[in-house]
Amino acid sequence: MLFQDNFCSGLIRTVKFNRCLSLLIALNLFAYSTILGWVGLFLYIIATEIFINLARNKALSSKKVCQNVFNLNIVLTTIFLLITAIGSGNEDFIFLSIIPIFQSTLYRKFGYIVGIIGAGSLGVLVVGFDLAKVVSFLTVIGVLTFLIMILSKTLSRTNSKADYLHSIATTDALTGLINRREFDKRMIEEFSRSKRHKSPLCLALFDIDFFKKINDTYGHNTGDTILKELARLISSNTRNCDVAARYGGEEFALILPETAQLEAYELVDRLREIVEKELFNKTQRPIKFTISVGVGQLDLADRSPIDFIERTDKALYAAKQSGRNRVEKAPFGFHFVSKKREAV
Ligand code: GH3
Ligand code: MG
Ligand code: MG
Repeated sequence: MLFQDNFCSGLIRTVKFNRCLSLLIALNLFAYSTILGWVGLFLYIIATEIFINLARNKALSSKKVCQNVFNLNIVLTTIFLLITAIGSGNEDFIFLSIIPIFQSTLYRKFGYIVGIIGAGSLGVLVVGFDLAKVVSFLTVIGVLTFLIMILSKTLSRTNSKADYLHSIATTDALTGLINRREFDKRMIEEFSRSKRHKSPLCLALFDIDFFKKINDTYGHNTGDTILKELARLISSNTRNCDVAARYGGEEFALILPETAQLEAYELVDRLREIVEKELFNKTQRPIKFTISVGVGQLDLADRSPIDFIERTDKALYAAKQSGRNRVEKAPFGFHFVSKKREAV
């Protein structure tokens, strides 16, 4: 899904270079004015806009559609340049094929690059019947293509380094869940979204019961294994749109967008039961433990995510106070009043 979005938005950016190509052609057509040239340019501009809109259309833009649109765009641009050069009798137009070459380089379409250079050389030969011009075309286009390839490689290296840095800055190394910093950012986003759309938003805070004892009895490494397994269990029992995070040492958080408190309560209580029945650290020495959870729904009175988190944290505290291995709902409003767990 992410790749599809990146591919299509990247495609839109790339195909937008066609607009710049059209502008350059239009400037040249003033000097080498031919009706065929202007008609061709007009059709080419329409085709470019159709390509861009197809890629923008979320309903149509599957990865396959995007790929086909991109390929068609390259082929059409090359043909258009050849026709314009032959129609105007000026082989210089073919030098503009550096734009489809640039587009193909970005998507590593090396076959297309060879095809464009081959078709371009043939075009230069047809228009000028001059081998020397073909050689100069090959030299200029060859050097430019080489430079573009170096640039594109440097860019993709920089992008992967940025992706890597982003992933270590936002992910908890032990559990693979998002870390506290990223959780705070996502919380602010979901808080604003929920307030804006007046949609329900829930938060659950989980804390392992007597985790210190597990560490003391079985060792810190076993404690780490348990944290990893619990993180996996939380992730596999939640929806894609839910945001699971490692909130602190042995505390986890779950942001539940578009979810009302009762639904959230049922979900986390089911999770609590799953944890209670699960055998952790199975391959070494099986361990059982429980979790306590506080669950809250965003309240009109919550002025900031901090208010909301504090209210939910108090519910977690109440769950601990009332005996652990339970889920406590955060009452609405600022003032937390300790309540016994309600029957659901
Ligand atoms: P309670 O039921 O009240 O939550 O008791 P608890 O023992 O779980 O609570 P406490 O806060 O006293 O202990 C939390 C422990 O979690 C202490 C700390 O050593 C341990 N811990 C925190 N982070 C990690 C970690 O990354 N790995 C391991 N193995 N232990 C951790
Ligand atoms: Mg704790
Ligand atoms: Mg604990």
